Amino acid sequence: MLVVVVFMRGLYNLGNTCFMNSTLQSLASLDEFNTYADNCVKLLAAGDATVNHSADADIAVQLNIVLEQLRPQASRVSAYSPRALVNSLSKKGRWMASRAEQDAQELFQMVSSTLQATMRESDPSLFNTDFLANTAPIENSIVSTASSSSSCHSANSAGKHPLRRRCSTSVCGMPPFANPLLGMAASRIACVKCGYTAAIRHFTFDNLSLTVPRARHTTVEECLSMYTVIDQLDDFKCRYCTVAATLAQTMADIQTCRSELAELDAASKRAARKSAALATLIDHQHQLEQALSSNPEAELKGIKLVSPQPGVSTKQTMIARTPKILVLHLSRSIFLPTGDTIKNTAHQYEGLRQCVP
Ligand SMILES: [Zn+2]
Repeated sequence: MLVVVVFMRGLYNLGNTCFMNSTLQSLASLDEFNTYADNCVKLLAAGDATVNHSADADIAVQLNIVLEQLRPQASRVSAYSPRALVNSLSKKGRWMASRAEQDAQELFQMVSSTLQATMRESDPSLFNTDFLANTAPIENSIVSTASSSSSCHSANSAGKHPLRRRCSTSVCGMPPFANPLLGMAASRIACVKCGYTAAIRHFTFDNLSLTVPRARHTTVEECLSMYTVIDQLDDFKCRYCTVAATLAQTMADIQTCRSELAELDAASKRAARKSAALATLIDHQHQLEQALSSNPEAELKGIKLVSPQPGVSTKQTMIARTPKILVLHLSRSIFLPTGDTIKNTAHQYEGLRQCVP
């Protein structure tokens, strides 16, 4: 049996940088992430020279150097000092300079957003208004284009969706590559009173923040279940109920208007004004009835909507497209009704680290 011995390189603690070192070691262990960071730096080299001197570019380059140093070694090597990367990060986030917060999730988000920014800035032709205008959102959805912009390099290039758009207009000359951190979630809200389900909203994510159950032992799967569980909202204003309430009010106004009109001299100016008001109300009635029967979200011109009493609704969030690398943030903060925050002392099992669909 062939046994290959490799040595993993450590990182020096430069003063409260253990949270950064553990984040970097985790990212360095993921082949997909290494490839992604490497591609971002190559894209920088092929792009606009001014971008190469930005703070984001500096972080991307220094990050790539650290990742390179953390690759498995054939022989024992001493620990590596990520000083240059810390200096680059400190220019973007002051908290990194002081290390007062030591928040691994915040550091990850800075790294992730920086790499996305380098992709976007290196090839602006992909992110102009034409790109946004020509990008049809998937049916019945709202897509967060701001956070999905870098995804034009997705390997799946067949569709119209930004996550699958072909990188055909790229000036970078590089083949398309995907952001392995980027996934898509969808949320759906349904009114308990009338049963109407609002349009499903989609949004991209590069990590999921999960609430940890208040139990002595839990698993990552349980935390994920809590993310997708059906929640109850008590202050939701349903669009269908709003349109229905406005129609009821309009019908009452029509009735009142007709009664007042019957008591006026038909030839008077006042009767003429009242007739015009009645015609407007009847037009509103038709618009509202049409909206209720076909599309409650339709624009209702000139109609002031009645605000119904907030009702109970259910909300469910689903993962619509899993990323190559699923990054999970296990939130151990518990927010009390008093406004105070306490720490959840639940023990956590090691669970999913990498999710390959
Ligand atoms: Zn409703």
